[in-house]
This record gives sequence, structure tokens and C-alpha cells, in this order.
Amino acid sequence: MKAKAAILEEFKKPLVIRYVDIPPLLEGGILVKMVSSGICGSDIHMVDGEDPRVPVPIILGHEGVGEIVEINGDKRDLNGEILKKGDLIIWNRGVVCGECYFCKVLKMPYLCENRKIYGINRSFKEYPHLSGAFAEFIILEEKTEILRLSPNTDPNVIVMAGCSGATAVHAIDALEDNLLDKTVVVQGGGPLGIFALSLAKFQGAKNTILITGSSFRKEIAEKIGIDMILDRNTSAEERLNKILDITYGRGADVVIEATGTNKAVPEGLRFLRKGGTYIIAGVASPQEKVPIDFYEVSSKNITIKGVWVSDAEHFKKAVSFVEKHQDLFATLITHKISLDEINYGLDLVRERKAGKVVITY
Ligand SMILES: [Zn+2]
Ligand SMILES: [Zn+2]
Repeated sequence: MKAKAAILEEFKKPLVIRYVDIPPLLEGGILVKMVSSGICGSDIHMVDGEDPRVPVPIILGHEGVGEIVEINGDKRDLNGEILKKGDLIIWNRGVVCGECYFCKVLKMPYLCENRKIYGINRSFKEYPHLSGAFAEFIILEEKTEILRLSPNTDPNVIVMAGCSGATAVHAIDALEDNLLDKTVVVQGGGPLGIFALSLAKFQGAKNTILITGSSFRKEIAEKIGIDMILDRNTSAEERLNKILDITYGRGADVVIEATGTNKAVPEGLRFLRKGGTYIIAGVASPQEKVPIDFYEVSSKNITIKGVWVSDAEHFKKAVSFVEKHQDLFATLITHKISLDEINYGLDLVRERKAGKVVITY
């Protein structure tokens, strides 16, 4: 049997559609027929060769939902339920070792030194070759963390819980205080930013504010009920004043970077009140450096916190949050395309002309 796959053979080049042999399963392996996958903003950096984790050739795609075709052995999902053929499942993109210092002693598995990520650092040259979501089939290894989905879950909507959703949960969980009565600013209106703001809203934040330059994304944020949307094309002064106006001149309690670029950081720090927290969640590849005013950091007693990917708990929370609010997250999907149209889909994301782009199989 063969599977159609979109392969990145060379950086900065379009993906190439090829037919690939499906190899036999190892002990604990699961063959999954893809139902839906999502294009993530970070896929663009990977195609461009800007993510040091990515080898070529590779099948990209780290957000996926699919149906189990075959399991070699017994496997339970994160709820302890036995998985079987025909189950609709979603999986955690990262597989951790459970043995290293970060997994075992610090209990921060998102920092695992041996973390293997579907569609990110698994070469197409290595078994099982089908290790990314941009193919008709994917083979999951034994240690993969899986959740069985109820049959009335929309695969195209739930798919975003796997990466941006789980990372957004990590960003919110990284805050020491709860968000009741707080003002939360998110820079960047992609799925990560919208997800983080939705979480803040449902946790009782008083003001949720989005900074974005995309009219497309503004519309999505409006539909979702974000309290204030500030245009990135206005002056920095204007944006700051609007935030100061609704916070009695103090500034935001929390600012979350979800743009994917270092350039957002200096402005984000200015938005914060004294004692506020700045979370960097979107920057996922090395970037040109930007100057930061450390006097601003010390004199305002600011906490700056990096958030790297996510773990099983963040993943599970994100899946249940999306399952519960499927109608809300459905509004993020602007394009459903086929695997053959993947390069078009990547262009849409690159040019920020889309909300969420999903591939249906
Ligand atoms: Zn991603
Ligand atoms: Zn580890």
C-alpha cells in the first residue's frame, strides 16, 4: 500500500507530492489515516530553512487528526481508554523520553532533551518515513500521547488544539495569578493569539485586547467577542494611549507575544503596568535581535517569561477547551484545502491572508 505525501525536499522550495510505501508497524506502532491537518505559522519558517530542528527531506505537518487503521499491540489514550481500529484520535506532536533531567527531575517535559516532534524533526529518510501530518497516512510510535475524540467532534476544528491551542494553554498556565478582573493584551492575531485571548476571556479577564494589522483577523476577533482590537498600522503612541485609557493610566497586567517575531517585544513591554508579566510564546525560530530597555524592566519590576511548546497536560486541556467551544473556534477556519493544494495553503499563511488553514483528506 502507498500513501500520498507532500515532501519538503529542499528549503525555500515548494513541497513535492510523492507516493510513499507504508512500512510494517513496530511493536506499539499505530497506523493512522489522516482526516484533517492544520498549517501552522511555524511551518513557514520550516519551509524557509529558518528552524534549526528541521532536516530535509521531511514530511511537515505537526497538527493532525486521524482515524486508526491498525495498532500493533495494546495502547491506551490519556484518559486510560483502550484504543481500537476506527477510533478518531488527536495526538501530542511532541514525544518525550521520560528519562532525561527535564522529564524526570524538573517535570518539565516540554524541555525534554530528546523530544521528537512529528512533522518537525523526524527525517523522511528514517523509519517510519510517514512521520508528518501532510500525508494521507502517519505512523505514530508507542510513546505518543493520544486522545480519543468523540465522533461528533469536528476534526477540522479540533486540529488547532494540537499546537497553537496547547501552547496557548501553556502561556496562560505560566501566569502566577488568575486572570479575573485583569487586562490582557495579545500581540498577534493568528491562531495562537486568538486562542490565548479566548482562554483569558473564559477565565474572567476584564479587558481582552488584540493587536493585529490584518483586517481578516480583526473580523475573527470581533466574532469571538474580543473586547478591543488595536490596529498595528496606527502609531505606537496611539495604541499605548488606548491601553492606558482603560486601565486608569496603569497599563496591562499581562501581555502575551504571539506574533512569532522579536520585533513585537519592545512595544509589548511598554504596554505593561508596573509589576506586570510579559509572556513570549510565539517566537519559535532564531531571529534578528532587537534592543530592549532593561531600565524599563527593572524600574517597572516586570517579569519576562519564555514559553516553549507544550506538554501532555496543556495538550489535554486545549483539546477539551476546543471540544467545548467548537462553534467559537470554527470561526477561525478560513480555508479548507486538499493535500494537492498544500503550497497554496502555505502561501496563504505566509502572506497572513488566512485565519486557520486546514487540509482535509
Ligand atoms: Zn505549530
Ligand atoms: Zn526527556
